Amino acid sequence: MTQHPVSRPHVNRRDFLKRTAATAAAVSLSTPAIAQNASRVVVVGGGFAGATCARTLKRIDPRTSVTLVEASHTFTACPFSNNVIAGLRDLKQQQFDYKNLEKTGLEVTFEPATRIDAGARTVIIGDAGRLPYDRLVLAPGIDIRWDGLPGYIEAAAERMPHAWRAGEQTLLLRKQLESMEDGGLVVISAPANPFRCPPGPYERASLIAHYLKTRKPKSKLIILDAKDAFSKQGLFLGAWKELYPELIEWVPLSKGGRVTSVDPATNTLTTEFGSHKAAVANVIPPQKAARIAELAGVADKTGWCPIDPVTFESKLQQNIHVIGDACIAGGMPKSAFAANSQAKACAAALAKLLAGEKPDEPKLINTCYSLVAPDYGISVAGVYTPLNGQLTDVKGAGGVSPANAPRSARELEANLANGWFKTITGEVFG
Ligand SMILES: Cc1cc2nc3c(=O)[nH]c(=O)nc-3n(C[C@H](O)[C@H](O)[C@H](O)COP(=O)(O)OP(=O)(O)OC[C@H]3O[C@@H](n4cnc5c(N)ncnc54)[C@H](O)[C@@H]3O)c2cc1C
Repeated sequence: MTQHPVSRPHVNRRDFLKRTAATAAAVSLSTPAIAQNASRVVVVGGGFAGATCARTLKRIDPRTSVTLVEASHTFTACPFSNNVIAGLRDLKQQQFDYKNLEKTGLEVTFEPATRIDAGARTVIIGDAGRLPYDRLVLAPGIDIRWDGLPGYIEAAAERMPHAWRAGEQTLLLRKQLESMEDGGLVVISAPANPFRCPPGPYERASLIAHYLKTRKPKSKLIILDAKDAFSKQGLFLGAWKELYPELIEWVPLSKGGRVTSVDPATNTLTTEFGSHKAAVANVIPPQKAARIAELAGVADKTGWCPIDPVTFESKLQQNIHVIGDACIAGGMPKSAFAANSQAKACAAALAKLLAGEKPDEPKLINTCYSLVAPDYGISVAGVYTPLNGQLTDVKGAGGVSPANAPRSARELEANLANGWFKTITGEVFG
């Protein structure tokens, strides 16, 4: 797996004095309580984006005081959670703690951030704890839009799991598939863009189809889609024809695929063209940046957070940077790899800003593997750079797996996918 190189500014005495002066100026203007030399950075959210950013910043500049605020002691990763749903993996293999991160000199605080006072540059944690900052990084991931699909209120997820945040929901969907009779109908509803992990619904459909083919071969799977095109579409459609003919049916927007409401009491999904009563319904609903982003005033009316593509600083609030799924990253997809890439670029930019220097323009990388079967992998890769205020695709620098590759190439990519997961989780939590 190629990793985005981190630029590490050399911190010499001159840099240090400059930074100290910059911090002192900031302190005297608005945060009189901070009477230390070191700059203070608070990172909210210890996922792929936040944990990487906190760790990288501390490595670039050990003098900076970095506090990571995370709601949970255990992080449950979404990549490879589709394997858990298909009975190919244990949820425990998705789970990581923060013990190694704590050894890197970071402060890790296990409480939810409940409010941000941007004027006073303070994060409120739990009921009343206060953490002042010079710069804040928000990396809280996504929330479900509980008002985004009629009928899909919070309680509906107990009957029709989304499994789009890994954990209990992942296990619930797996359990429902296990107890479904052979011959049952599984329905997945996929949302319109933008949402977390664009190829995710189609990888999930593939791995559930693998489960059905091997365990419940009379069953069928329908994907009701609010779009006419999706990530790695040609590769998925080609592989489905080869591996799961007659088993998967994809209904795009133009053929009436958009789900307009759901009824958890009867497990029914309704489109403009009719209704589907499912034995197992996996509703992947519309999403938005997690709540704390809204409370901080960094989310716009789309529900996501506009940012400067060089520094990731919010376009709506000074001194707050937003990375990962929560931000609007132009052409970059909402993926763990993208979050990790953005986190490193943001950490490098923060180190420069705190030193009173101009951040470098970053080049960001994303690679995203999907499994169509346990031994059948496909991928997409892209490189992104700031252009006209947006992170933009560098033309000719990315692409997808070849269409007519031999099975050995698909097998190799399935192995690479496993290697990718081990590498990224090792880098973030190891
Ligand atoms: C089924 C599925 C499969 C996927 N497969 C892949 C894949 O193969 N490859 C890939 O690159 N990506 C994949 N993804 C996408 C990937 O999971 C996300 O893009 C990635 O997790 C985003 O990272 P993040 O740090 O922005 O958010 P998260 O990883 O969700 O981390 C956010 C963290 O913030 C914490 N938090 C939130 N609010 C607060 C608060 N107020 N206070 C304190 N802490 C808070 C949360 O507890 C969480 O730990 C997949 C996603 C899904 C759903």
